[in-house]
Amino acid sequence: MPIGGINWQALTQQQWRAEQLEHNLHRLKLAAPLAPPVNLLHIWMFWGRPVQSDNEALWLQGIILAHVGMLLFFTLLALAAWWLEPRPHWQRVRQACVSIGILGTLGFAALISSIDQLVTSNITPLLVGCTLVALVFLHRPLSALLLFAGTLGLFIWGIGQTQNDPALLLSNRVNGLSICAIALALAWSQWRHFAKIQSQQQRLESQQQLLEQQNARLSYLAEHDPLTGLLNRRAFGEIVNHELLRAERNGQPLCLLMLDLDHFKQINDHYGHPVGDSVIRQTASLLASQVRASDSLARIGGEEFVLLLPECDLQQGRQIAELLRQRVEQQLRRVDGLELGLTVSIGLAAIPAGHFCSYASLYAASDRALYQAKHKGRNRVEYQAPA
Ligand code: GH3
Ligand code: MG
Ligand code: MG
Repeated sequence: MPIGGINWQALTQQQWRAEQLEHNLHRLKLAAPLAPPVNLLHIWMFWGRPVQSDNEALWLQGIILAHVGMLLFFTLLALAAWWLEPRPHWQRVRQACVSIGILGTLGFAALISSIDQLVTSNITPLLVGCTLVALVFLHRPLSALLLFAGTLGLFIWGIGQTQNDPALLLSNRVNGLSICAIALALAWSQWRHFAKIQSQQQRLESQQQLLEQQNARLSYLAEHDPLTGLLNRRAFGEIVNHELLRAERNGQPLCLLMLDLDHFKQINDHYGHPVGDSVIRQTASLLASQVRASDSLARIGGEEFVLLLPECDLQQGRQIAELLRQRVEQQLRRVDGLELGLTVSIGLAAIPAGHFCSYASLYAASDRALYQAKHKGRNRVEYQAPA
């Protein structure tokens, strides 16, 4: 079912197909080079062997020809698999290479078993071919069924051409059926194992993703104020300590502003806390919209905010503080349709270029300046130098 515009089931199918192809090509790369030495050994052993009958001559010729064919087939296949493995974009060619490898192996197994029937009732090549294909490669259940049914059909037809004894023919056809059924069962069990591992891996990956999202959420919550989304006191403290060191190292000035809404308690008392919360949120977004990206703004209490201005001297700090004070007065006069006439008092502390002081004394200076602003009638900016 598509969720969020993505068909997850189709995606899983696609991933599994990609994994299956990767696995099969790798196995082909490892297995195909093992065949040519075996073929050479067969050719060497059968070459020039004396024969006692026409049937035997035909058998020998057939076996040698089949092994020469396999020698060429598996050599080319091994080279193709080695060349294709590091080339994931050749998807179709990779798939074709694997399919040709599988079909070829089964075809040769049925062919050699059929040729063998000219002199022997032995069907070992079919057993070896089917077992190898079932164990070495991964097959989807339906493909496995078609593959081994097709091989059985070919084998039944093939030995019909070479085996003249009706009893042996029947026996070998029944044995061929058993071999193909066993190969099918092996292939299915291989697939079940693969599917189980794949689903476990996918479950693990999605749990990992969920964990990462939860971690990101937790670290966001640990650093931000839930009402306004601004930094909280702890995160702000870390930033200030870092910026103080940077300002000292670079010989830059720095300002700290402490802002407190005037008579905020009355808003809560008259209109209720939800309106008070809304005022805090709107003040936060107004302040955030006025500061530079390099500045840090935090909510440190009910309606108290702090603003760190790096690379900013006293004169610029005063201008910014005054601008913020005016913006609050102009833009927060009406909030949520209520005539609140909101104002803010601001305490400013500054460190001149080339000087250093601790966060504690900078914070205390801005707090003293804020107290002074309140004391002098509110809705104003006051400055205090850090001790
Ligand atoms: P002043 O001009 O002297 O600053 O007066 P004030 O009324 O603003 O005084 P004060 O700073 O003491 O009042 C702060 C009030 O803020 C008190 C408290 O009930 C309220 N407050 C603290 N946190 C929250 C909050 O999260 N939401 C709301 N709505 N109110 C809060
Ligand atoms: Mg206050
Ligand atoms: Mg206040």
